[in-house]
Amino acid sequence: MSARIIDGNALSAKLRDQLAARAAALKARGVIPCLAVILVGEDPASQVYVRNKVNGCDKAGIRSLHDVYASDVEPAVVFARIAELNADPGVHGILVQLSLPARFDAAAVLEAIAPEKDVDGFHAENVGALMQGKPRFIPCTPYGVMKMLESENVPLPGAEAVIVGRSNIVGKPMAMLLLARNCTVTVCHSQSQDLGFHTRRADILVAAVGRARMIAGDMIKPGATVIDVGINRTADGKLCGDVDFESAREVAGLITPVPGGVGPMTITMLLTNTLEAAERLLP
Ligand code: NDP
Repeated sequence: MSARIIDGNALSAKLRDQLAARAAALKARGVIPCLAVILVGEDPASQVYVRNKVNGCDKAGIRSLHDVYASDVEPAVVFARIAELNADPGVHGILVQLSLPARFDAAAVLEAIAPEKDVDGFHAENVGALMQGKPRFIPCTPYGVMKMLESENVPLPGAEAVIVGRSNIVGKPMAMLLLARNCTVTVCHSQSQDLGFHTRRADILVAAVGRARMIAGDMIKPGATVIDVGINRTADGKLCGDVDFESAREVAGLITPVPGGVGPMTITMLLTNTLEAAERLLP
């Protein structure tokens, strides 16, 4: 039997309607929620991500500032702009699009953002808060995945959750969030032995690797919930995930597509975090 598809576009549209209502309520109280986005360099994928974020803001009634710097910009210029945005009371969220040119100390850039405006949730203070189970901002992609699981009432306590990928922006925070919901969590990475052994045990499988279609149907437990975070471009220019959708959907119970799965949810949760940052400042 074919898996039911978790439609990230549909869920996003529903959530974004609610966000637009929250943005309107803020405006009625004299607060215009505002996200500042900084892009350094000319990477085409980053340009698309930033454009989607700015468009998402516009549609939700969130003001956006959009600074673009050439890849050879002096890091000091970017740090100065972050300091300016940190000090601006009209700016509620700040994000620097990753990845940054190699000359930049990416960790130092993320640490320069004021933690209370760090809507990506990448500042060490916010990472620590998440780790302690008291998140200030939940990183957007894993946050979106949790919303997808909630929307389908996927049982979490006691579930075997396997995450493939251990990046700071997806795999690790994903593990923290599932652990906080009482899943038994396994995190796999490039040195893991016999990946299929782990993935076949998963009631919930999250793939966040960046390798096209590496997880096939025979690596999936029948009836599992499969969340595909990966975004890869095939030789013919099409987008695909880390999961081989066609074979996986024959085995899984629930599955997210690429495109139209986790991607739109990531931006929706960025908008959510920005509104939360603005709402926290209300008297
Ligand atoms: P990273 O490159 O930072 O991390 C990839 C992870 O995959 C690493 O932990 C790496 O292990 C692991 N890995 C690599 N090869 C294997 C393998 N053969 N078996 C098991 N694990 C392996 O990527 P990101 O986390 O930033 O992104 C992952 C994917 O998700 C990408 O396709 C990216 O484009 C996409 N993405 C999608 C988003 C969305 O909104 N849908 C948002 C963010 C990312 P090790 O640590 O050992 O190197």
